[in-house]
Amino acid sequence: MVSSLFINPFSEDAREFVRNYGALDRIADTSEELQEIVKHTDGQNIDDNSLIPGSIMELAVKRLEWYLKREKREFNHGDYAYLLNPEIQEYDVLAFYVLAQATGAKFRPVSREARLVVESTGALIEERFRVLREGDRDEITGRVLHELGSGDLRWIELEELLRTRKLKLTDLILDRGRVIIEGDDFMETFQDRIRDRRPERLYQLLVGSGLKETMISRMIMQRTEDYIARVHEMRSRVQPHPLILEAAELIASRVSEEMFAFTGTSVKSAGPGKLVPEAFPPCIKGTMEGVKSGSRNDAIVLLLTSFISYARLYPSVFRDRTPMKVSDLDPDLRITREEILPIIYDAAEKCEPPLFEDDPQEKLNITAKLGFGVHEEPAPENEGESRWYTPMSCEKIKIHLPDLCHPDRICARITNPLSYYNRMRWIMKSEGKGDEGGDEEKDSE
Ligand code: SF4
Repeated sequence: MVSSLFINPFSEDAREFVRNYGALDRIADTSEELQEIVKHTDGQNIDDNSLIPGSIMELAVKRLEWYLKREKREFNHGDYAYLLNPEIQEYDVLAFYVLAQATGAKFRPVSREARLVVESTGALIEERFRVLREGDRDEITGRVLHELGSGDLRWIELEELLRTRKLKLTDLILDRGRVIIEGDDFMETFQDRIRDRRPERLYQLLVGSGLKETMISRMIMQRTEDYIARVHEMRSRVQPHPLILEAAELIASRVSEEMFAFTGTSVKSAGPGKLVPEAFPPCIKGTMEGVKSGSRNDAIVLLLTSFISYARLYPSVFRDRTPMKVSDLDPDLRITREEILPIIYDAAEKCEPPLFEDDPQEKLNITAKLGFGVHEEPAPENEGESRWYTPMSCEKIKIHLPDLCHPDRICARITNPLSYYNRMRWIMKSEGKGDEGGDEEKDSE
């Protein structure tokens, strides 16, 4: 029988279990029971001992490692199959708290490490829902939503989730400010107002298990974020346990190992490289020449900012899918300040009327789209306040900025301007016209 511990580390049962576990002195001790569960998980790779977490501390680090590796080509699900085995749930709850406490003890709440821990928590929950049997899935969903206090939830209580874009208001079904989640509630509220459709069918379409599971993962992500921030805030008053600090060191080295692997020479186009303007797609070339009011703001703030920053720092983002911040690739922000921003500001100046004269606020929005919050310029201490936006797809450009899209023959084979850029650089290189990176990569956004 799967319990809600498998999904929700913030349930009363989970907290009680952690309280009863007592002192943290044993988190690095080898547990034979944990190893047995791992080794007997269906599909688990047991050829290599380093794949088997021996202690709660190792399990904590493995949770994060799974997330860092799972989008990579060489990822093997069999190396981490135990993370989706409900039998691991009690160890896993302890590992979750070790991971979150270690993160709060060493890293700032807006740090890359904290962000990765929060994201990995959400991703693991979604993956676990995916492998649960249908009956268990419905039951656990209902139970966890109840534990998270969804009974009489008002949208305003989700303000933080909406502000940080973990949820969109348009995802929710509301009635006078109340969030409708349960089927009975939906029927009671809307049955009389639905005319030519079956209410049950409509409920499945609009809410169903998809929205419930998304809400659960986002709510737990938010609580994880808050928990890490609380631990961080308390660390000057409460000395962290030495083993928690040891776990924090393991997290730091695991994250940087993955980042090092990412920027290593084996991944040719992954790291920063010089910009090759000849390889820019028509929509970007057009934007750089200046845009007339109408499409102007979105063209500069949304399209050009993301395109230039990724093209310069991380052109293979859609292929590597490793979560990165600008400072992972440009630690002192020199490239950002001296190369990327001048190109964007120059294009903004060429617009009619010039963007910043007309709308100075947009300078702050450009900073925000690079992941540094709403500030005049990118500064290290603000990084993480917003997300570093990836370039929008051709499909979106055709809808929102149709004047900018003038497809050429390369466009027929790609779905994103950044993929155009990579393909064009590869073509130029194979024709001997350039020597800068570029891969014949799959157009995967
Ligand atoms: S198809 Fe895509 S890459 Fe080509 S011009 Fe249009 S938006 Fe740009």
